[in-house]
Amino acid sequence: MPVCARCQSDSIAWVEASDDPEIYSYTIIHQANHEALADVTPYNAAIVIFPATQSVRLVSNIIDCAPDDLAIGMQLSLVWEEVRPDFIVPRFRPSRDART
Ligand SMILES: [Zn+2]
Repeated sequence: MPVCARCQSDSIAWVEASDDPEIYSYTIIHQANHEALADVTPYNAAIVIFPATQSVRLVSNIIDCAPDDLAIGMQLSLVWEEVRPDFIVPRFRPSRDART
């Protein structure tokens, strides 16, 4: 059962996130700690926030973006990626506005 990371409360609910994801922080991983990651290394891991939805954060990856182009505050768009037939994960790419 998931609980609040701050107060351990199990009083949780689904919340529809706002449509304004942006990078809060990120890192570039250069070492493949598992053979399955060898082909995608270096890759990034990012904390994505939704400023209009307070206290919601996701750890995800930013796709379609060179490591040097990543930036804190970058505006993003959600992409649902099917990594296996039964497994879909939320990833993000720079929004159209952020690329120009
Ligand atoms: Zn709490």
